[in-house]
Amino acid sequence: MIAVTDDLVQWFRDLVDKSEDHKQAIHDAYQHLENAGLISRVTVHRYLCGKCGPRATIIRIGDRTLARTKDYKLSPGLNEQRTVESARRRRTLDGNRHWPGHTYDVDDLADGGPTVGLDASCRHGTATILAVDILEVTKNVVPGHPGKPTLF
Ligand SMILES: [Zn+2]
Repeated sequence: MIAVTDDLVQWFRDLVDKSEDHKQAIHDAYQHLENAGLISRVTVHRYLCGKCGPRATIIRIGDRTLARTKDYKLSPGLNEQRTVESARRRRTLDGNRHWPGHTYDVDDLADGGPTVGLDASCRHGTATILAVDILEVTKNVVPGHPGKPTLF
């Protein structure tokens, strides 16, 4: 079994503790880990679309659980139907229909109550994953050993 090193946990803690923008800090941290090829070592669960693959990845570093949703492209028709022009302009990666992924602090979301979750989308649809469910599914999982993914 590959253990997540204390160094990694300490690095993450420093990054998050020193930052004044928690949301940005966890987003950056996830990006660093991904760039370093370390995500699989800290993954505790995956949510997949049965047709196109990853929709969200849950990782745990030390005592903190993060969720990262994957970026996705909507078909021109669905994009038109489900989104508004101003959001398309401001929030997409291409100014139109390529929506970025987000990083969430799952413990913070869970503090908001049992109905708080995150949306995991792909071009086939959107599923809301409740934060309390993520914590329940992952509570005994050793990072790096995510087991069976949840399929949508
Ligand atoms: Zn899909």
